[in-house]
Amino acid sequence: MTDNLEKKLEELCKEKGMRVTEQRRIILKILSDSPDHPNAEELHRRVVRLAPSISIATVYRTMNTLESYGLIERHIFADGRARYEAGGSEHHDHLVNVETDEIIEFRCDEIEELQKKIADEHGFDIVGHRFEIYVRAKKRR
Ligand SMILES: [Zn+2]
Repeated sequence: MTDNLEKKLEELCKEKGMRVTEQRRIILKILSDSPDHPNAEELHRRVVRLAPSISIATVYRTMNTLESYGLIERHIFADGRARYEAGGSEHHDHLVNVETDEIIEFRCDEIEELQKKIADEHGFDIVGHRFEIYVRAKKRR
């Protein structure tokens, strides 16, 4: 895990008068070591390898807490299931492989600019956006 994220967790917990529980630390670390945007069940499978006593309910609860602290991001892609990634990375968008469930991150300045332009034309400032492209492997002909 980036020391940054761990430090942020400590600061935020202190601010809110909460303890940095070992569970929160472990779950955040495993998520930040997971580049694949796992869902809660998958994350739980990884967590119990390190800490067998952490339940799936704890994972769900912790994800809600960490999300409310702004330390992680929740994504709901087309299948409707929440998947997570650690926060703090630069803004990016996602390709979702509908055949394999693989998530590929990308960043495209042209798309960012285009969105600004569209919001602008409608008289708005952008406060955030989500952009997903659903893909499958090209068929060989
Ligand atoms: Zn991502």
